[in-house]
Amino acid sequence: MTSNENQQPATTSITAGRDGTNSLAPTLSTSSTWSSSGLEESNRQANALHQTGNYSRYANPTVEAFEHAIAELENTQAALAFASGMGAVSSVVLALCSTGDHIVAQRNCYAGTYAFLVGPCARLGIDVTFVDGRNAQEFAAAVRPGKTMLVMAESPSNPHIDLVDLTELGKIKGPFTLVDSTLATPLAQRPHDHGVSIVLHSATKGIAGHNDATLGVIAADLDLISDIWTYSVLHGATASPFDAMNGLRGIRTLDVRLARQSDSAQQLAEWLLTQKNVTGVHYPGLKSHPQHELAVKQMNYFGSVLSFEIAGGKPAASKLLSALKLVRPAVTLGGPETLISHSASSTHNSVDIETKTKTGLTDSLLRLSIGLEACVDIKNDLASALALTN
Ligand SMILES: *Cc1c(COP(=O)(O)O)cnc(C)c1O
Repeated sequence: MTSNENQQPATTSITAGRDGTNSLAPTLSTSSTWSSSGLEESNRQANALHQTGNYSRYANPTVEAFEHAIAELENTQAALAFASGMGAVSSVVLALCSTGDHIVAQRNCYAGTYAFLVGPCARLGIDVTFVDGRNAQEFAAAVRPGKTMLVMAESPSNPHIDLVDLTELGKIKGPFTLVDSTLATPLAQRPHDHGVSIVLHSATKGIAGHNDATLGVIAADLDLISDIWTYSVLHGATASPFDAMNGLRGIRTLDVRLARQSDSAQQLAEWLLTQKNVTGVHYPGLKSHPQHELAVKQMNYFGSVLSFEIAGGKPAASKLLSALKLVRPAVTLGGPETLISHSASSTHNSVDIETKTKTGLTDSLLRLSIGLEACVDIKNDLASALALTN
């Protein structure tokens, strides 16, 4: 979809997803339906795939503008938006998998994805093998030829910030491969360029970027998007035009936000490493991150999210959360405000103990989503609060 091959992604985030009018801001199209000239046109619309001008569950001009922008940024032929990141996850899985099929999935993933795979998928007889995403060979080794429909990865992973080797994943042939690229956003990495079939985002996070939209999106080849679209109109997790408008608005400033957030995250990660009551820091920009070299190879930014381990476990984490004044305890990421969460008891509360242990989801782990405040103020707030947890 890229209009100009030489154009930088930061520029594409400004030029992409224009609706053909001369309006500079996204046009909000609230109509749930459009009239037709008569029976012939109605019949043509009934046979059309993913086209606006008929009924909003099938397609909507504002949502379509957002989808076009994502397809251009991800360098894919097409994209499809959903009511949330989980709307995207569940629609893709159910569009592509049936009873008796098999999925290979990364164990260390977003808790909603994990819950969907161990809950509804198991109930429907879709078999899931979980692997450690840090070792790309494990994905390929778990594939059962003829049975595995989907290989699902997440990079960087939420909340332990592990990476998946996108090139190794892209080499897997047979099943469709999917990368949840939420923590990277389309500007930090492009999984489809590595041969990955489907790129998925919770656009609720960095893409919309202002904590004012609940939105999901996938980007892939047109044929695959059309197949998933055919199922998705029945599933009904349709993106709201208002949220798609905020998603598109967010894309316009994504590069400057991500640059600022990544810069602050790097400084804070390095500073946290030197704090005596911090026992570990997970951020791909750190030389001490076990996958730092891979991060340099496949990422343009290291992202807005880091996690760290606090000495003293859950009681110390609890003290820290209460002592912070600027940094707020909350469970999303990628927005303007710096947020902190104790993953094991909040976002990942539902994950079973065995999986928590295997994926490093300890009681000491705190996830920080770095916002747009001056870095020094975030640091001062963390320093004051950390001093109280000694
Ligand atoms: C938040 C999140 C999701 C789910 O997205 P929603 O928009 O909350 O449904 C999926 N994957 C990752 C990595 C996330 O952080």
